[in-house]
Amino acid sequence: MKFYFCKHCSKVYKNKCYGHASKDDWLEFELQKDTISSEREFIETLLYHRFQLYMVVFAIVVGGATQIESVHLRTFILYAAFVVSALFGCILFRTNAKLKIILNIIFLNEGHAASISDKIAQELRLFSVGRSVRKLVGVWIPLVCTLLILALAILSPSDCLWDSSEVLQFEWICSPGPI
Ligand SMILES: [Zn+2]
Repeated sequence: MKFYFCKHCSKVYKNKCYGHASKDDWLEFELQKDTISSEREFIETLLYHRFQLYMVVFAIVVGGATQIESVHLRTFILYAAFVVSALFGCILFRTNAKLKIILNIIFLNEGHAASISDKIAQELRLFSVGRSVRKLVGVWIPLVCTLLILALAILSPSDCLWDSSEVLQFEWICSPGPI
């Protein structure tokens, strides 16, 4: 099966993209039979394994860092975790982008089981749910977790989230005194 990738639209087409017909605008590929399904299985498993690992590391780092009483050490660990989380997020984003390209190629073949189930899911209005789940795993959850670690790192020196005596003092100031 032959297909074309348009560099401008970042999409895969069965025929050349009508809007961008110049030779420099597209790449031509010849797909060998039955290689795309195994590649999809591999990338999909890789994405979900990496996501599980990311969530376990995130829970350990955030849970552990919040237990550290030393402000300097806690802030250092949280900033280091922010850098690692951002890099890991980039890996998840790249894996998700690869999966998107593979699904794009699969859906060009109308006889493929994935294309048929996708069309039926569209009829049942389930498609948007499946697509958003993949985007949640590959983009939104890592992004929110990374920003959360950054917020914790910024707030770490101020002690407003960790020092219980501050909270107690605040409650004492706010509570109405004896009348
Ligand atoms: Zn195009």
